[in-house]
Amino acid sequence: MPPVPSYGMRRPFIGGNWKMNTDHASARSLAHAIDEGIADDLQADIVVFPPFPYLLTVAEVMAGSVVALGAQDLSSEANGARTGEVSAEMLRDVGASWVIVGHSERRHKVGESESLIADKLSMALGSGLRAVLCVGETREERDAGKAHDIIAAQLRSALASVDAAAMVDVVIAYEPVWAIGTGITAQPSDAGEAHREIRSALAGRYDARLASSVRVVYGGSLVPAAAKAIFSVDGVDGGLVGGASLKAPDFLALCSAATVGVAAS
Ligand code: PEP
Repeated sequence: MPPVPSYGMRRPFIGGNWKMNTDHASARSLAHAIDEGIADDLQADIVVFPPFPYLLTVAEVMAGSVVALGAQDLSSEANGARTGEVSAEMLRDVGASWVIVGHSERRHKVGESESLIADKLSMALGSGLRAVLCVGETREERDAGKAHDIIAAQLRSALASVDAAAMVDVVIAYEPVWAIGTGITAQPSDAGEAHREIRSALAGRYDARLASSVRVVYGGSLVPAAAKAIFSVDGVDGGLVGGASLKAPDFLALCSAATVGVAAS
């Protein structure tokens, strides 16, 4: 596989996926602690993804902050008879500018299909939201030597209707399913290989120039102790963080590490 071209222009990205954690009070205090602790001049996109019921509260706490607001999911439909769903317009209405699409917990625990994920991504981008598209293989798929095929297929399906111009609003998160919430961080060499594979798939779908401009981040049991090794891997532009994003000091440490590590790689 050819080396990742050098670019130096991709802005680091760190997302904090709070998943189905926090309550109203703790969401407010976590948002407050992150907002207080973040350096205003940090050269990175920092986004928090609280649960739906707390989006508005976090938006209020972080009004004027450098930290952006995102949602963990959205409906593939614009509005109407979709009980329990939340539309892209509603997310924008409460101040969200980002959304996660295709998280492995939705792929594997909720059963979202590749075509639903593609529809959600199109809905997000068509509605003016920026998206974190998650891809990654299970342990069984990796052990069977299928990791790269799985990732390539996930990208092919999700990006089939996304034109090159819209890719400026997409961050790809490589999240090996076996690393999410398990305490097992991928080896830097495995993360690097997957990131190269993702860029190669992007080059095939679009072109090499676009592939070198899209941000690709790592997610899976990312903690401050592992940050330096992961963020200094060539082509890793930051991270999507679950568990560690619920502790403001850890999340803030990861935000700082991303700017140092990514800038140095
Ligand atoms: C995630 O939810 O995207 C994630 C990477 O979780 P964790 O950091 O807890 O593994």
